[in-house]
Amino acid sequence: MSSEWNENEPAPPDGGRLVIRGGAVMSMDPAVGDFEDADVLVEGGRIVAVGPGLDAQDANVIDARGRVVMPGFVDTHHHQFETAERAFLPNGLLTDDGSGSPSAQPNYGEHILGRFAPAYRPQDVYVNVLFAGLSQLDAGVTTVLDVSQIHHSPEHTDATVQALVDTGRRAAFGLFEGAGRTGSRYPEDAYRVRERWFPTDDQLVTMVMGGEIYLGGQAHRRSWAIARELGVRIAAHAVGSWGTMRQDLERIARGEDGVRVGPDNLFIHMTGMSDETWKRIRDAGARVSLAFPIEMVMRHGTPPILTMRELGMEPSLSSDVETTMAADPFTLMRSAMTMQRMVVNQMVLDQGGPVSPGTPELLTVRDVLRYATVNGARDLGLDDRTGTLTPGKQADIVILDATALNVAPLNNVPGAVVSLMDRSNVETVLVAGKIRKWRGRLLDVDLDRLRHDLEASRDHLFTAAGVRRDLFA
Ligand SMILES: [Zn+2]
Repeated sequence: MSSEWNENEPAPPDGGRLVIRGGAVMSMDPAVGDFEDADVLVEGGRIVAVGPGLDAQDANVIDARGRVVMPGFVDTHHHQFETAERAFLPNGLLTDDGSGSPSAQPNYGEHILGRFAPAYRPQDVYVNVLFAGLSQLDAGVTTVLDVSQIHHSPEHTDATVQALVDTGRRAAFGLFEGAGRTGSRYPEDAYRVRERWFPTDDQLVTMVMGGEIYLGGQAHRRSWAIARELGVRIAAHAVGSWGTMRQDLERIARGEDGVRVGPDNLFIHMTGMSDETWKRIRDAGARVSLAFPIEMVMRHGTPPILTMRELGMEPSLSSDVETTMAADPFTLMRSAMTMQRMVVNQMVLDQGGPVSPGTPELLTVRDVLRYATVNGARDLGLDDRTGTLTPGKQADIVILDATALNVAPLNNVPGAVVSLMDRSNVETVLVAGKIRKWRGRLLDVDLDRLRHDLEASRDHLFTAAGVRRDLFA
């Protein structure tokens, strides 16, 4: 491999024809396939062709020899506004469940949602969301669902969407509730938001409606109805161990609540749900996002991957909160692999002989790659434009360095990506054909200034929340 990888070389200009030459191409589209050595031709922001030796003489060339070329990753549930509280709860649980666990204090419900969230001003929302988005873009996540629960006022909402737009990556903006302050217009503000920011669905940032079932009363009936009137998808947390969510979702899934579950519903976590609820959710065509690391660490319950596979369902993956765990796709894929295989391997060991019929199959690296790309696009209704390297789709592409110290020599492409890589291997990132990261460096951002703004926001939030910052707590 004689790739000349000059990091000082300027990025090719945007908008024209671009060919990514000579990479190991993993398209994630069975109809396109994989190639040990192939090119990806991009024109007008779209993928035009994938294959070996493409004729593209007038195109700008990105040399991808020694690199893996694959679709950008998709995260279907990330609370981006919480960046200022990164690692504030490394040991924290979701809520104080009365168990007496030392990790129940401080906890997510009381401290992040109860104390920090109400203190956010629109400028806090802006820099927190932007910083989180750039960080994930840097890690190869080209599409996100920002589960945004910070809508204390329309100004907070506008600051969030502006940050998603300014990040320059594909995003679904999830309009969820605020902290219930006077001035919050959720869910009715959805009409204004749709008209002002999302006049069409054919743009980089699109809209999803938050339709939480835990808000009580008629809240979800109203938000779901608005979503369907506006033609946007609905996302909602569903944690069986939290409050009455298990019973509430059971009632909703049975159709006894005046709302209908459909293929436009995305349920997040789905831990601790009854078999009956699962079957009804599956039959309705609803989607499920699993946040493996967070569910395991914060006591949401066991990620229901075995149930899903038994029912013939597949999840997408989500990072959830950086208060407690990293938001890069490699952490998500490896957590899914290790959790599922730990359980199944122990089942086989306990059987003590040949594998019994009906024993679940072990997850493979291909499975989790699918969860982290094409399934995410599907679950956000964006699979017509992203999630695979398919001609006609938007060029959301990551180029991963397989010559790096932690990866070489390259013997298995999906294995190298899932088992070995981390964000340091994400060298170049394209979103809709625009180069956002070039040879290890994000383009068009002043990270020093943004970090300064984020630290100022963090200082305001800790003070306003009455929380002392203790670096070794
Ligand atoms: Zn969440």
